Amino acid sequence: MLNTEVTDVRFQGEKFTISTQVKNFEADVVIGAFGKRSKLDLTMGRRFITKRSPYAAIKYHIRTDHPANLIALHNFRDGYCGISNVEDGKTNLCYLTHRNNLRKTGSIASLEKEILQKNNLLKYVFSNSEFLFEKPEVINEISFATKDPVEGHVLMAGDAAGMITPLCGNGMAMALHSSKVVSALVIQYCRAEITRTQLEKMYSDQWNVKFANRLRTGRRIQKLFGNALLSNAAVNLALYSRPVADLIVRQTHGEEF
Ligand SMILES: Cc1cc2nc3c(=O)[nH]c(=O)nc-3n(C[C@H](O)[C@H](O)[C@H](O)COP(=O)(O)OP(=O)(O)OC[C@H]3O[C@@H](n4cnc5c(N)ncnc54)[C@H](O)[C@@H]3O)c2cc1C
Repeated sequence: MLNTEVTDVRFQGEKFTISTQVKNFEADVVIGAFGKRSKLDLTMGRRFITKRSPYAAIKYHIRTDHPANLIALHNFRDGYCGISNVEDGKTNLCYLTHRNNLRKTGSIASLEKEILQKNNLLKYVFSNSEFLFEKPEVINEISFATKDPVEGHVLMAGDAAGMITPLCGNGMAMALHSSKVVSALVIQYCRAEITRTQLEKMYSDQWNVKFANRLRTGRRIQKLFGNALLSNAAVNLALYSRPVADLIVRQTHGEEF
């Protein structure tokens, strides 16, 4: 059902009741694919939602002369900015910043002027682009905290199970991969080849084997960014040592699926 918000999911007597504003549904299995932060996290009492996260993301579509084969990543104090081309000759510019930057500068415009544009490459992009949105898209409270892949018997997929730091650029592939893993197990459950307890345990185990380390590595790498000295050292190390660069990619990108 499109444009319909799920307001609650309850498990009782081996069945789920899914509430929406339109009507309620019954289901044997529920896959939670509601992204990194949803009202449902609150309704379900998930632990991570009670902790504040210090990150905000700000995004624009711009017209500029960005090369087609380049994904640029620019550093600034307590944040980083990714730039890559998208459809219709547009370029996506999206940055993640610690909320202290916003607090100190007071507005997005001042933050961009006083902090992002201290990086000359970003200054060039900001000064030589047409900004296509009336105002930026802002997402607050981006959390990279550990979540559980199964909660309240709901099998979580994609960002609802755990979000990799955007620096690793692999969130969409991980969301698709976890959907593949969970759907194979749900099919086994629906054919009565495994019990619910086995389904939940097998999914948790497989999710942890495939993704938990990648999320952990992403969090570690992200800590390097925003710190001028550490991030320059890390980028130089990756640039001049192919094995280091390959190792980072292997640790964050997993296998083909
Ligand atoms: C700043 C930033 C930059 C990123 N850059 C990249 C990148 O370069 N490459 C990359 O691969 N990934 C990137 N990602 C990550 C990527 O966007 C996510 O990992 C991916 O979208 C996860 O897919 P998903 O389906 O789990 O969640 P989402 O894409 O968030 O989809 C969840 C959907 O569920 C809906 N929903 C939520 N609650 C309810 C409800 N109660 N009822 C009904 N529907 C609901 C939402 O409206 C949404 O449509 C980035 C993320 C951020 C924040």
